[in-house]
Amino acid sequence: MEERKGRRIIMFPLPFAGHINPMIKLAGIFHHRGFSVTILHTSFNSPDPSYYPQFTFRTIHHNNEGKEEDPLSPQDSGMDLVAFIRQLRQSYAEPFRESLAAEVGGGDTVYCLVSDVVWGRNTEVAAEEVGIHRMVLSTSGAASFCAYAAYPLLRDKGYIPIKDSRLDELVTELPPLKVKDLPVMETNEPEELFRVVNNMVKGAKSSSGVIWNTFEDFERPSLMDLNSKLKVPIFPIGPFHKHSDNFSPSTKSTEDNVTTDWLNKKNPQSVVYVSFGSLADIEEKEFLDIAWGLRNSEQPFLWVVRPGLVRGTEWLESLSCEFMDNISHKGKIVKWVNQLEVLAHPAVGAFWTHCGWNSTLESICEGVPMICTPCFTDQHVNARYIVDVWKVGMMLERSKMDRKEIEKVIRSVMIEEGDGIREMCLKWKERANVCLSKDGSSSTYLEKLVSHVLSFDSYAFAS
Ligand code: UDP
Repeated sequence: MEERKGRRIIMFPLPFAGHINPMIKLAGIFHHRGFSVTILHTSFNSPDPSYYPQFTFRTIHHNNEGKEEDPLSPQDSGMDLVAFIRQLRQSYAEPFRESLAAEVGGGDTVYCLVSDVVWGRNTEVAAEEVGIHRMVLSTSGAASFCAYAAYPLLRDKGYIPIKDSRLDELVTELPPLKVKDLPVMETNEPEELFRVVNNMVKGAKSSSGVIWNTFEDFERPSLMDLNSKLKVPIFPIGPFHKHSDNFSPSTKSTEDNVTTDWLNKKNPQSVVYVSFGSLADIEEKEFLDIAWGLRNSEQPFLWVVRPGLVRGTEWLESLSCEFMDNISHKGKIVKWVNQLEVLAHPAVGAFWTHCGWNSTLESICEGVPMICTPCFTDQHVNARYIVDVWKVGMMLERSKMDRKEIEKVIRSVMIEEGDGIREMCLKWKERANVCLSKDGSSSTYLEKLVSHVLSFDSYAFAS
């Protein structure tokens, strides 16, 4: 580890697990390269600083906190994410400006701000005011960012908003995406979705560089496309969590230990691991179809049912006693797992996923085939690439998902077509390792990133 010499980086993650996790991993990478890191985080969904004693954490509060009209009070299922992101941006814009100014006025030289790309241009003025450079972190893949960058064109050509009659049409400007794969989401504020996406892309273009949690071999054409469109330096240094200098919090919960014990008793590659990430929610009917489809597949399964996953229910109450009795030996249902550990366990044979970008990369790095049920935004793009480009999974579309189809796809991935897909998975796992090796592309880009950040001189920028 390099010695820290008063060199500080300030980070500002978007407060969702799929954004906080990679930002904290990136913080670990910078820390290992000799930077001190301050993480400015929203009071909504704030991470637990005690897991990461090497970083400084500062909580940013907003004005309506705790009041009845607090727009960010904890939500149950069914939240409109677009409206919620608008609220987040509005609520924290001013408090963020103040916090950043206070941090930059401290003792260390602040080399730059690294903010989540979804904050968009919100963070730009604040960084300019205090005279520091702003880099952005994209926690989604390069292919989906290309689709976001094409939003104006997609709108002009009538691909979005998506029409049911065109779902299976190829988007000729973005092959192999079909209209149904475009990164959109249900919202009561469709215009706001356009604003958020356009603002995000503009914020990337006006930044001092974009850091990607991806690797060059995996997304070369998309990265080349972005390189020419964004016209700022790009740094694909991922997968972050596999950097040899990275770390994981050592604390393990009792639930994690119980899950590992359960997996230890299963045959190699026999378990279907099921998780739809930290945000997606599903209808009760879909939940019951998933439950019975898993049961009828006769494969052991480990299923993460987050409280709030099933709309209108607390947790498992819609599962009958008959179902629970039926699965007692084969299936295990938990509220949350240490996903990195689960995917790395030899008993896991497939990952039924919503195809969030972190989940996609984590599965690739462990060589685990995927069953893809995307729910919204970039998940659709990731799923298409998983199936048609990287060839490491099979599609199980949400609209076609009944218990018979679920059983068929699980059996197909686990038994009939598993070997071919698994072979491709191992190839990608190997290529990820090569990119991370000493002279691999991710390591080379990391060297460039560190030099880039060190070349920033906050006072020169301000003057
Ligand atoms: N995750 C986890 N335990 C779980 C479910 C998810 O640790 O039970 C982690 C997972 O490893 C990943 C993140 O939460 O790092 C989810 O991010 P992703 O981009 O896959 O999906 P999102 O939650 O943003 O939809």
